[in-house]
Amino acid sequence: MLKINKASFSDFLTDVMRYNELVAPVMTDNSRFETIKDVSKIDIRIHAYFPAKKFFFKKCQTLFTYYDGKIKVPEIELDKNQRIMIGLKRCDLNSIKRQDIMFLQETKDPYYQEERERTLLIGYHCSEPYDDYCFCSSMDLGDFYDLMLYEKDDAYLVEIGSDKGRGFVDRYRKYFWDTDLYIRPHERRTETRLHLNKREISGLRNNPEWKKEISKCFSCAACVTLCPSCYCFDLYEETNAKLDKVQKKRNWASCQLTCFTKVAGNHVFRETREDRFKHRIFHQIKYFKQKHGMNLCTGCGRCIRGCPTKINWVDMLNRM
Ligand code: SF4
Ligand code: SF4
Repeated sequence: MLKINKASFSDFLTDVMRYNELVAPVMTDNSRFETIKDVSKIDIRIHAYFPAKKFFFKKCQTLFTYYDGKIKVPEIELDKNQRIMIGLKRCDLNSIKRQDIMFLQETKDPYYQEERERTLLIGYHCSEPYDDYCFCSSMDLGDFYDLMLYEKDDAYLVEIGSDKGRGFVDRYRKYFWDTDLYIRPHERRTETRLHLNKREISGLRNNPEWKKEISKCFSCAACVTLCPSCYCFDLYEETNAKLDKVQKKRNWASCQLTCFTKVAGNHVFRETREDRFKHRIFHQIKYFKQKHGMNLCTGCGRCIRGCPTKINWVDMLNRM
């Protein structure tokens, strides 16, 4: 087992920042992952209000441009600096795993792939839940990281999860020490106070409990925007005034908005708020698992924490 002393952690991060893009959780107007200019702003314990997914799957991206009879695709910049992302929690890391399934498993998305390949993921294990909205201990999360940090007294114990992680440790070996300390099984778990008691929800679609919570929802889509696992996007074209240049773009999309299922002829497949709300929960807990063998939801709690009317769908399912 390796450790890195807290006393040298700041020097380590400064050194990393010198040659790499360093991304970490910081507290600004709200907590978020940001590219770091000043390491004193980093607090790796923060469970960021906004997820880190925008670094891989951009909110808005131009996929190609059609101009002068030619299609121009933005160049993939393979020589970009390596990005070191530190302070990801187990829920964040597992959400990246779900996004990898969507963007890399079948048809590979070159834009996503470029960002993923240049990024090293360093996790931070939460020894206790960040707040009452976390429920990761009831979800099927696995180990998915390049390096994982566990806080132990005046040091962080470091677990290596990939060759990429091992290569990184070798590069910064002067900060890492061998240690006899180890992580006990209970120290690998985080027992959350909120718990989803049952994940088999097939028989619950017509339960009357939905109505109460759905009546509080006004389809603002904050839940989906804040979700680190949600991956839906919209494709559209933008033209210039002369109509001789077209950009094909994509934006994050939200299943909570009626436009999400609108098709030609103005037909909307999920017109009622109830249909949209239920679809979100069934996708997170059932449909994705049917196809990929794991829940899409990783229990980060962001959709409940960020909901303006604090709709707690975990409590709702438990009551059912
Ligand atoms: S954040 Fe809350 S109010 Fe907004 S769409 Fe989601 S569940 Fe509805
Ligand atoms: S559905 Fe909610 S709790 Fe689950 S991963 Fe998305 S934001 Fe987190």
